[in-house]
Amino acid sequence: MGKTALSIGADTFAFFTRNPRGGASKPADPDDARALIKIMRENEFGPLVAHAPYTLNPCSSNPKVRNFAKMAMAEDLEKMEYLPGNYYNFHPGSHTGLGTEKGIELIADMLNEVISPDQSTTVLLETMAGKGSEIGSSFSEIAAIIDRVVLKDKIGVCLDTCHVSDAGYEIKDNLENVLDDFDEIIGLERLKALHINDSLNPAGAHKDRHAKIGEGWIGLDAIREVVHNPRLADLPCILETPQEDLSGYAREIEMLR
Ligand code: FE
Ligand code: FE
Ligand code: ZN
Repeated sequence: MGKTALSIGADTFAFFTRNPRGGASKPADPDDARALIKIMRENEFGPLVAHAPYTLNPCSSNPKVRNFAKMAMAEDLEKMEYLPGNYYNFHPGSHTGLGTEKGIELIADMLNEVISPDQSTTVLLETMAGKGSEIGSSFSEIAAIIDRVVLKDKIGVCLDTCHVSDAGYEIKDNLENVLDDFDEIIGLERLKALHINDSLNPAGAHKDRHAKIGEGWIGLDAIREVVHNPRLADLPCILETPQEDLSGYAREIEMLR
């Protein structure tokens, strides 16, 4: 992963901690992890932003799904210690009929059960598009989850440009206002990472369909403003655009740098 990142001019990347649509996870390879740490150190990488599986839903109405979420996150966090001091991002969840309030409660309950005081990983809540019964499409929902977490220094936020735009935040024309809102409701000091995506749909569409940079509704100029905004300086930026191959990501990185 480190070598691949270097080959496309990246100094951070995301990876799935297990099959994003499945359950089981391969055992960690400590030698491989150490080799990656060496590459990262030698090339001044920023923090990595691991991604939890999409099937992880701590606020499902199905208790089996909730149990899997807890088990998978606990296991993933244990494994993340092979790469100490990085980020683990997850989708807060979909309440599937339980209601937003109950959903927020269940998400925070899981975090309080799996986060330990001695872990070196910061767990990031991803801002969501608000598709279906997704929780986390407003800054106030994210803040309400964080509010209930006991070990707050282990919690941060990952802002996804496609998702916040789809959720109705006008980052295209009003980035500074959106950042003011974020600061007021969550606190910009909690913002640890960015997912950089264009969106196929206009602000407020709640669709969550990513587009290549410059080929969607947000557009290259507005995305460049995000990446180069002084209030967002030093945050790892992760591309989740629908590129066919690595050269597409190399081009996007070059374009945004
Ligand atoms: Fe995500
Ligand atoms: Fe994302
Ligand atoms: Zn998305």
